[in-house]
Amino acid sequence: MRVLLVEDDHALTVGVRHALQAEGWRVDVLSCGEQASHAGLTGEHDVAVLDLGLPRRDGMDVLRHWRQRGATFPVLLLTARDQLADRVAGLDAGADDYLVKPFDLPELLARLRALGRRAAGRAENTLMLGELTLHVADRELRHRGERVALSPRELALTELLMGKAGRVVPKDQIVARLSSWESDFSENSVEVYIHRLRKRFGELGVVIRTVRGFGYVMEAAEPPSA
Ligand code: CA
Repeated sequence: MRVLLVEDDHALTVGVRHALQAEGWRVDVLSCGEQASHAGLTGEHDVAVLDLGLPRRDGMDVLRHWRQRGATFPVLLLTARDQLADRVAGLDAGADDYLVKPFDLPELLARLRALGRRAAGRAENTLMLGELTLHVADRELRHRGERVALSPRELALTELLMGKAGRVVPKDQIVARLSSWESDFSENSVEVYIHRLRKRFGELGVVIRTVRGFGYVMEAAEPPSA
């Protein structure tokens, strides 16, 4: 895996680079937002770790630049504790995950491994969660191989949530995605669809948790305790 690490805190980059290399990953380090905005478009990286506070061009702007120009690799944001609004905006702008500084290196590594796996799944156009498999190109959801019938809108919402399984999908992002189906799609409509999917997925080993005031997380249900 080749990682683009964009961070201007020298001590932090030294530690992170060392830990990533110890995992056997290649690491390119940049400390300047302007350089990073170009480096992310070369198609050479599997995942990026992007600090929000950068000289010359801030991380949010870099992220938007990448996404607007079609870069699809997973991006993990590094944020300060007091940057909650930025974290939300970052997820809206196409970030896949974030870590709040200071963080533990093992946690960063675990998150990056997960993002790498997810990126590989996305490349194969298949999303997997628990016993559910979504073939994105075929628009087909299966549970233990059995087809699960969903309406196109339910499927679009499922794809959005499964593509970010385990992470919060902001409600306004859902509204934006599903508005192409219904011009007056509202936050209330989101609740209706979430309610329907919960009923469908209740027996299929997948749950959709509400994160109050923010959005929803889809994840595999805890196995029933013996
Ligand atoms: Ca910084």
